[in-house]
Amino acid sequence: MDLKADTQRMEKIVSLCKRRGFIFQSSEIYGGLNGCWDYGPLGVELKRNLKNYWWRVTVHERDDVVGMDGSILMNRAVWKASGHEDTFSDPMVDCRSCKARLRADQVIERKDVQQCPNCGGKDLTEPRPFNLMFKTYVGATEDESSVTYLRPETAQSIFVQFKNILEVSRKKLPFGIAQIGKAFRNEINPRNFTFRSREFEQMELEYFCRAEEGMKLLDYWLEERLKFYENIGISRDRLHVKTVSDEERAFYSKGTYDVEYDFPFGRQELEGVAYRTDYDLLQHQKASGKSLEYFDEETKQRFVPHVVEPSAGVDRTVLALICEAYSTDEAPDEKGKMETRLVLRFHPRMAPIKCGIFPLLKNNDQLVAKAQEIVGLLRADMNVFYDESGAIGRRYRRQDEIGTPFGVTVDFETLGEKNDALTDTVTLRERDSMKQERVKINDLADMLISRVS
Ligand code: ATP
Repeated sequence: MDLKADTQRMEKIVSLCKRRGFIFQSSEIYGGLNGCWDYGPLGVELKRNLKNYWWRVTVHERDDVVGMDGSILMNRAVWKASGHEDTFSDPMVDCRSCKARLRADQVIERKDVQQCPNCGGKDLTEPRPFNLMFKTYVGATEDESSVTYLRPETAQSIFVQFKNILEVSRKKLPFGIAQIGKAFRNEINPRNFTFRSREFEQMELEYFCRAEEGMKLLDYWLEERLKFYENIGISRDRLHVKTVSDEERAFYSKGTYDVEYDFPFGRQELEGVAYRTDYDLLQHQKASGKSLEYFDEETKQRFVPHVVEPSAGVDRTVLALICEAYSTDEAPDEKGKMETRLVLRFHPRMAPIKCGIFPLLKNNDQLVAKAQEIVGLLRADMNVFYDESGAIGRRYRRQDEIGTPFGVTVDFETLGEKNDALTDTVTLRERDSMKQERVKINDLADMLISRVS
């Protein structure tokens, strides 16, 4: 890997994200808040497309998964039982020279001597655990009795609602409960843009099963998740599966895979797929005193189900989508001179805007009216963008830069001024190939819907 080129590529991506309204620093006018990000008009569309597609394939297109939406604040007892209060921590080290606070795994080792990556200082404290949960108080009194935490993962609300959902959905094992929602971790060093944030979103599925099915379902869900990434346009070449070793795995897990992606800043985790056994449900059963057992009608047995968990990060996947899509090529400008074109090659399914709609001239009422008519025709089925300002080539470029896969131009032929046969046809331009074809307005919706959904 060319480190310098990759760093520059990442800088360009961050700058494009701000310039075109994908991602801004949170509270930017006050100097920001480290580890927190806001999604702008295009970022929010990209994020929604990702979440909606995940929900579609994980919940709607399956008979064996239902959804839920749990609260962020929960009874503190949840975090005691799950083990988060005692053990959800990263080892932290302080540099006594520059006062930097570091994750222990960031400390560099040269000739067996530990050094601060910030100042090179060798006077470091011993690693000590730092709990990553954000503590807060519920109600008017700020004392121990009112403490709880912002959830560091969405999974626990699924576990504690297991029995309710089992009863109302009347599902039989194996079945899953899916959730998308915010999670918070007070990361010691947020970094790599949105990759390691303090506030982020997760897409989690808890797939409950019998103990003997666990290992097989772990492999099944890994394959499903890899297919998912390919279906949103992430190339298989840049995805890697890491089998988490016995030493690195949580003690209750019998098998865990990390799905990693080649970001410009290195190969990093996008998602964890873990076989968590019956640990979580057993813990909550024990701590709450409420049965979380499943009754098998056929065998008449009662038991606590096991669970396989694919847990993906929304923000990390959005970042992977942008990194994957970012590219440049050569294209002719208005005068035919070749210039560098910046293009986000999003899969049409993920693209924030599906189709740009352009009247050839803005001062021609008929062209404008026809273009607006097409906006009305497509709007109900997809996010479209109307643009009448500037030369047509410039308008194409603006859409290329934000990854709009299709562009429709209304010209004088559309109005039937040149050739009767072309009345009510438009030019449809495809972003990547830049190929243009003549299409009937009546066929547009059907053509585009099948390509963007
Ligand atoms: P890491 O090792 O990178 O800290 P993790 O193994 O602790 O991640 P999990 O607890 O498995 O992460 O969480 C599941 C998913 O949630 C991760 O794969 C990732 O996509 C997302 N996620 C976790 N922490 C963060 C974070 N600080 N910022 C953004 N996304 C995160």
